Amino acid sequence: MSTTKFKIQMIEKSRALDHLLALLKIEGLSGQEGKVAAEARKRLGAAGCKAAWIKHDNAHKRIGQDYEVGNLIVKIPGKGSLRTQPRRLFSGHMDTVPLCRGAIPEVSGDRIIAKGATALGGDNKTAVAALITVVESILINNLPRPPLTFLFTVGEEVGLHGSRNVDLKDLGHPTFGINVDSSHPDYAIIGAIGGDHWEANIHGRSAHAGVHPDQGISATLIASLAISDVAKQGYFGKIMIDGHHGTSNVGTITGGEATNQVTDHVRVTGECRSHSRSFLRTITSVYRRAFNNAVKQVRNNRGERGSVEFLAKRGYDPFKISERSEPVRRAKSAIKALGGDPHLVIADGGLDANNLSARGVPTVTLGAGQYNPHTIDEYVNIEEYLTGCRLLTLLATS
Ligand SMILES: [Zn+2]
Repeated sequence: MSTTKFKIQMIEKSRALDHLLALLKIEGLSGQEGKVAAEARKRLGAAGCKAAWIKHDNAHKRIGQDYEVGNLIVKIPGKGSLRTQPRRLFSGHMDTVPLCRGAIPEVSGDRIIAKGATALGGDNKTAVAALITVVESILINNLPRPPLTFLFTVGEEVGLHGSRNVDLKDLGHPTFGINVDSSHPDYAIIGAIGGDHWEANIHGRSAHAGVHPDQGISATLIASLAISDVAKQGYFGKIMIDGHHGTSNVGTITGGEATNQVTDHVRVTGECRSHSRSFLRTITSVYRRAFNNAVKQVRNNRGERGSVEFLAKRGYDPFKISERSEPVRRAKSAIKALGGDPHLVIADGGLDANNLSARGVPTVTLGAGQYNPHTIDEYVNIEEYLTGCRLLTLLATS
């Protein structure tokens, strides 16, 4: 038996599935990853990790917003013939989107689905479970490996917070990374889109909506004018202008107190994305201008205008790592070793790999069978999840 084949068989299927089902049952929305982290620590300990290898960083203190825990970091010393090789990083995020609240996983044929009308949380519990499976198979089978770091991040879904706030020193300065946060294990993500978050606070003037609406300045009207202006210019939703591509979305509109009161405050939040740094800036500036112009169009009977504060923040920069870089070469050959057909792709969503790559750890993102994330149709393909576990074990030990 070749060593590759030997390693591939080192995955204990029932253990791998047990990790996944247990983690899918635990709620862990962004900022509330404490219970997921505790379960992961318990399972890593049972797999043979020494307590001294496992720690939390204090990323949660830097993120603020009452985050329960920081990133979970596990550092495993090298062993055997590979122990002097440079350190490798494996990562996956622990948090799930709010649609996963109350999810109950259920095996249905060759899939795991959510029982009720919730998302499942395969994004990204497949990664957490797969990484625990990798650690377990390495330690139980005493496989030769370079020094390895496993990073379980917090707050990925709401702006890649954990990976932005991780200290490379805490990771032991790995030379490259493998992130897990995708679907089919044959697809290696080598780049991803960049994104901005923005928020517009519109202040108008309150007045009785029946008696003196003309004295009021409606923040609702200003918001509607601004949003429809963006749409008329072609910058709402899917954007294709002069060969430039991107997306934008208005995610929340909140404000107002009563129907008989002209609305004096509305808060609108949204996001913009593009693979091009400069076009990303353009999309966000279209929103900024639209809100500023809309304010000028709405006046009350005294000629007064409202105001708007528009705040935009770069969530993550677009990135692409070289096809000849070590993680890409290794990912391709590992996929082939498992009989797969490697494809290199660019993702339309932000990933922890954006931050890690930007910070000098070129990171490729692989899949472990999660599909339709952030929808109630989310599911995990069990066979692909197991293939993902094998692929990662191979990448950690070859
Ligand atoms: Zn994800």
